[in-house]
Amino acid sequence: MHQRREHPSRGRREAHEAQLLDHLRAHGATDRAALAQALGLSRATVSTLTRDLLASGALGVTTGSAPRRRTGRRPELVTLNPNVGLIVGVDLGHTHVTVAAADAAHVVVGTRTMRCDAATPWPDRTRTAAAMVRSLLATRGTPRLLGIGVGVAGSIAHRETVVADTRDELQRSFGVPIHLENNTRLAGLAEHVWGVARGLRDVVYLRLAAGVGGAVILDGVMRLGARNLAGELGHVNVTDEQLPCRCGKVGCLEAVAGRQALLDAAGVTDLDLLVAALAAGDRRAETAVVRAAEAAGRVLAGACTTLDVADTVIAGELTTLGEQLLAPLRSSLARHTLPSGAEPPRLHLAQLGQPAGALGGIGALLRDPNLPLPLTTTAAS
Ligand SMILES: [Zn+2]
Repeated sequence: MHQRREHPSRGRREAHEAQLLDHLRAHGATDRAALAQALGLSRATVSTLTRDLLASGALGVTTGSAPRRRTGRRPELVTLNPNVGLIVGVDLGHTHVTVAAADAAHVVVGTRTMRCDAATPWPDRTRTAAAMVRSLLATRGTPRLLGIGVGVAGSIAHRETVVADTRDELQRSFGVPIHLENNTRLAGLAEHVWGVARGLRDVVYLRLAAGVGGAVILDGVMRLGARNLAGELGHVNVTDEQLPCRCGKVGCLEAVAGRQALLDAAGVTDLDLLVAALAAGDRRAETAVVRAAEAAGRVLAGACTTLDVADTVIAGELTTLGEQLLAPLRSSLARHTLPSGAEPPRLHLAQLGQPAGALGGIGALLRDPNLPLPLTTTAAS
């Protein structure tokens, strides 16, 4: 991208193009008016830019699922050219392997999931995932693969060997850039790209399942933190009781609101039995769920107060408990957030379910500046 003397405005134009392409990488299909607003450019400038980028083949258009205007017509949305290749996401969970593929326009073209035993060695999970990716790509006529974003269960800061081995294996198999991340954090990012948190600037995401984890998105960017531990809400201390946690500490949120801790406290062996006990008005089950919800609400409130965030997303299999869990959680969140008496942070229920971790791998890769997309811009022409 050399600035030519005969085009004094070329540098600025290139910067605008790069901004526009980055926005579409992060957010997917967007109409021109919203693009102008997001980029702080005039509609005329955005029209010229998109016209030229469409002509160069860098962009495509769709009417997608945009809300209809008052005229009844859907606005035309601009996307990155969906034909440049596919991005794959992989979720290596404790008890499942999920893969998903999407094009550069953020259209998900397929997902696959397979259950696995919690004791399955990590190299076996990675090989299973690689086979699932090959099979998924084959159904699409084996298109060009641009990169793979991988979510791994557990804190990746403490899983150096798993992370390195998984990256090496996938790199050897596919020869494309690999992005690795904690899978809960990726699930949170996916809600921001495709799900209930789409369009929100700041979000705290909390996932209540076998493990308890989270993600923090500020100014539309997922925060990693100084030691790559941002969003580890499951390991915030919530009690002086000596309840042991998987992380080696005691009294963490996960030791109160993780699936096993909750089932033990409720005196049942699985989630279906807990739902049944709640339906039957079992006091022990109710007390256990309210305690977990109260603790989760307090941790969320701490994050929302610290960061002044007004939107939260709750995800994970414990949300199948419905209002029995969510009502006390909402109330705890409201009671513990500043300013008291004002509208409390909103609590949204995650939308994406099982594929969220794998979708987040795609979202993270699309937002990763180290992944070059083969788009022909006007600067290169
Ligand atoms: Zn812990």
